[in-house]
Amino acid sequence: PQRLAVVGASLAGLRAVEGARASGFTGSITLIGAEDHLPYDRPPLSKAYLAETPGSPPDTTFRTEDTLRGELGIDLRLGAPASGLDTEGRAVLMEDGTPVPYDALVIATGAVARLLPGTEDLAGVHALRTADDAAAVRRALDGGARLVVVGAGFIGSEVASAARERGLPVTVVEAADVPLRRALGDEMGLACAALHDRAGTDLRRGVSVRAMRRHGEGIGVELADGGTLHADLVVAGIGTDPATSWLNGSGVALADGVLCDRTLATSVPGVYAAGDVAHWHNPLFGQSMRLEHWTSAAEQGATAAVNALNPRAARPYSTVPYFWSDWYGTRIQFVGISQADEVRVVSGDPADGRWVALYRTGERLTGALAVDHPTHIMKYRVMINRGCSWTEALDFAQTRNEQAC
Ligand code: FAD
Repeated sequence: PQRLAVVGASLAGLRAVEGARASGFTGSITLIGAEDHLPYDRPPLSKAYLAETPGSPPDTTFRTEDTLRGELGIDLRLGAPASGLDTEGRAVLMEDGTPVPYDALVIATGAVARLLPGTEDLAGVHALRTADDAAAVRRALDGGARLVVVGAGFIGSEVASAARERGLPVTVVEAADVPLRRALGDEMGLACAALHDRAGTDLRRGVSVRAMRRHGEGIGVELADGGTLHADLVVAGIGTDPATSWLNGSGVALADGVLCDRTLATSVPGVYAAGDVAHWHNPLFGQSMRLEHWTSAAEQGATAAVNALNPRAARPYSTVPYFWSDWYGTRIQFVGISQADEVRVVSGDPADGRWVALYRTGERLTGALAVDHPTHIMKYRVMINRGCSWTEALDFAQTRNEQAC
């Protein structure tokens, strides 16, 4: 191939273009991004970016324009969403009608934050996905906003934490009885949710939001239990949808994201996908999954580009999923998958806010959660990767505990 196009100029898209150049590809590369910004890092947006700091918030841009255009020789098209894909003619279709021809294509359009229906135009109500969202949330926090977070997932919890650390009043409303059930399972979801209580955040579980409207200077958040919360800022952390609408009718198979095989190849020749948008077959677990984690987005970006440029030598991408989240000065890290037959705390105690829990499926270790225990987690990741038995994992945990004593 002589022409590589990458749609989506964020983490996976950036790693795709860097991976292509690192592999020795000297053809043309076009990187197409809907946002006006150079590719930037998202995790800090709900963490350090929201902290109370004098002056400007930290800049999370990955690379300068000079590096991208000059050193890497990228044709960078920012503020330019792709609106369609002509798979027969091998061209990305831009909103203004211009085609961008390609021989190999990487789809890296990520995910779009969900908004609460009816709040799209309500001032003071935000999702937190983009740099622009984060700037608006930070401004409101700087103004001393009373915050209501809808959804006690990771992003909502991080925003709550940032606001509490500024001393602001925070209520988190979660529709489910158990927050983070899908990510961590019931027991550990509840254990992590207790971090909110310890920090003085008012977490309301099992309550959904019925409506929101302007109320004087602020916003009235009306709850299904009849109560109303008064806020100056509402942040919705209610999940995302893969950004695939531009692919409708293109022939690229979609199913909760872009459907890919184990090499990240889509249903259309020459077209690969990576990052939050990719629903791929992870050979390590024999399961199809779509991850929304930084590490896999970065790794998939590079793999997808290299495979797209050399499909005959395409390598599978397999991984033990890994993510982290920071709340109230506590780092939460998880490796593996959370559906399990048993979850066992093997070190520390959730009541003290510092612990390790292991997840068993059959006789194998399939997941591990570390809360404020950073040194352990990557060892468990390696163990899951090599199919370690439950007994071996428990022995390892016990040895670590004895060494720590
Ligand atoms: P994205 O980062 O979503 O980028 C996709 C890009 O494609 C966007 O810039 C979008 O504008 C663009 N795009 C979409 N449609 C089009 C189109 N039609 N044409 C052109 N461009 C398009 N992960 C962790 O593991 N740990 C964390 O602590 C963590 N914290 C996070 C905090 C926040 C606030 C957010 C939002 C995410 C966090 N994540 C975290 C997740 C991590 O940031 C994502 O997994 C990662 O950004 C995915 O990268 P991506 O390139 O696949 O998609």
